[in-house]
Amino acid sequence: MKFKERMKRFLTGRYGGDGLTTVLSFVSLASFIISAVIRAAAPDTVGKVLGAVFWIIALAVLGYSTFRIFSRDLTARRAEYEWYRSHIAAPAARLRNETKTRFRQRRTHRFFKCPKCGQTVRVPKGKGRIRITCPKCGESFTKNT
Ligand SMILES: [Zn+2]
Repeated sequence: MKFKERMKRFLTGRYGGDGLTTVLSFVSLASFIISAVIRAAAPDTVGKVLGAVFWIIALAVLGYSTFRIFSRDLTARRAEYEWYRSHIAAPAARLRNETKTRFRQRRTHRFFKCPKCGQTVRVPKGKGRIRITCPKCGESFTKNT
């Protein structure tokens, strides 16, 4: 059997990569770099220990990522990806959007967090001291705009 054929057979039914694979690769690479930088910058015992810790993290993440790629348990890997998507990727995207919106509207609006439920409330800037009512939970609080 040709190598290509053998490879194809080996990979059949295995999970492969997804968005989590990409993130894990970056985390692993970053940990390797951090480890190297620490060991170069601090050749004492603390530096060696810290460097080793990041080295272990980098290897563990790389190992886990590789395990996922070749795994045959597609259901478990999809569940991991779904968890990653809803707990990390989606909140990160929301935060990015919120930061962008705030930056675009920084001259015309101020943003406050409701002290009761944490909802972000947007109010026009330059209205002095105003009473804000949270649209989500109805809590009232006073802020300077
Ligand atoms: Zn609220």
